Amino acid sequence: MKFGGTSVQDAEAFARVAAIVLGERENSPVVVTSAMAKVTDALLTAFDTAKKGEFENAFKSLEPHFERHWQVSKDLTNKTQQKSFQTELGFAKKELSDLLMRVSRRSLPLQMLKDAIVSYGEQLSSHLLAEVCKAKGLKARQMDSRRLIVTDEEYGAAVPIWDETENLIRLELQPLIDAGEIPILGGFIAASRGGETTTLGRGGSDYSAALVGAALRAREIQIWTDVTGVLTCDPRIVPEARTLNTLSYEEAAELAYFGAKVLHPKTIQPAVDFSIPVRVCNSHEPEKIGTMILPYSETTPRKVKSIAHKTGITILRITSARMLGSYGFMSALFQIFERYRTAIDVISTSEVSVSLTLDDTASLEPIVNELKRLGDVEIETENAVVCVVGEGLRATSGLAPKIFSIISDINISLISHGASSVNMTFVVKEAKVAEVIRRLHETFFK
Ligand code: ADP
Ligand code: ASP
Ligand code: MG
Repeated sequence: MKFGGTSVQDAEAFARVAAIVLGERENSPVVVTSAMAKVTDALLTAFDTAKKGEFENAFKSLEPHFERHWQVSKDLTNKTQQKSFQTELGFAKKELSDLLMRVSRRSLPLQMLKDAIVSYGEQLSSHLLAEVCKAKGLKARQMDSRRLIVTDEEYGAAVPIWDETENLIRLELQPLIDAGEIPILGGFIAASRGGETTTLGRGGSDYSAALVGAALRAREIQIWTDVTGVLTCDPRIVPEARTLNTLSYEEAAELAYFGAKVLHPKTIQPAVDFSIPVRVCNSHEPEKIGTMILPYSETTPRKVKSIAHKTGITILRITSARMLGSYGFMSALFQIFERYRTAIDVISTSEVSVSLTLDDTASLEPIVNELKRLGDVEIETENAVVCVVGEGLRATSGLAPKIFSIISDINISLISHGASSVNMTFVVKEAKVAEVIRRLHETFFK
């Protein structure tokens, strides 16, 4: 059972979570929690402030968040539990103060310090949730995910080492579960083999839950959030978006990859590996089933199931006469992206040019410099990828003309269809994306 940031944003939310866990007590749950809402952002801001040398401001900016945690403890737990959490909070403050000081003095590699700092969101929320669950009479026990999930040293986007992680999770958690205890872990955080704290990338608690669920061969992986399941599109754009009853792994993976924030893109894989159903449900409406993500898709009359989108996309166009009739060009091109560990989302080629999109532009400058050796490079920022998903797309003809006639007055820069038979992906200007989604939603889901 994974609970996201808004599901643990305040005392009321913690109380709801404890009640939901209580309801599952007979099913031997393991709980994974995110940091309280806004805490990860606050820790990252504190890191940036300390980096500018303003150590005291950095630490002070966290005070209101320490207070929020303390308030939950006071509202929902007894004196013994409060004392135990207060000790934890005291340690966290001291350690964070030390880490922020190190950032301002740059006495350790910054990426390493950043992960160490940001990990306190989940360290604190998991300790707090364990106390709140104990106050509810549950045999809860906080476990440090950094001793369970082993990763490489790619700080900020660490990759789990599966075999070691699986072994540790089984070894540490199974005996507790067998003894009727409920392990409570922080999501998102892990550690390298050397024991340094790492993180799995923003929104990574979903992934943590899937790793734990897969290692334990759980009957179900539940993602508890602030919407009732995976919807027909982002409800912030179309408030009437509807809950999908079921999705296949493939559909869910495409949606997550192309921006449906409700699931972290890596969440599905561990579930796929062991055919574990993933359920996305709402901590405000626990009685509703939400969306079941399953190995297969249920056939529905709807061809299109959902529309995802991702903004902040950069298009690169590489034009080179060398491409004409030659081989090895693509390989040279891909090697550049591989060297900078940068993923390409959508790609399209013609005789002498390649257009591709990037979400992660951290290494844009060196990438473009190297690409210039292959040909002329154009960069176009502020684009959005739109991804229309549905198993029905496999066997449906005429869908592409339908989609494009609805938005015929809007310029489309790249189209990809057929790479995965469950999706149709294209790129428009960011300023137009809300309009595109609204029109598609109106057509396919009214
Ligand atoms: P959590 O903190 O629980 O991990 P997130 O904010 O990461 O929650 O994800 C839930 C949010 O994802 C929703 O509030 C919604 O705004 C957004 N979202 C985007 N696309 C979709 C979609 N297709 N279905 C459901 N939610 C979506
Ligand atoms: N707390 C982390 C974040 O805000 C991870 C998560 O919530 O999934 O990105
Ligand atoms: Mg999330």
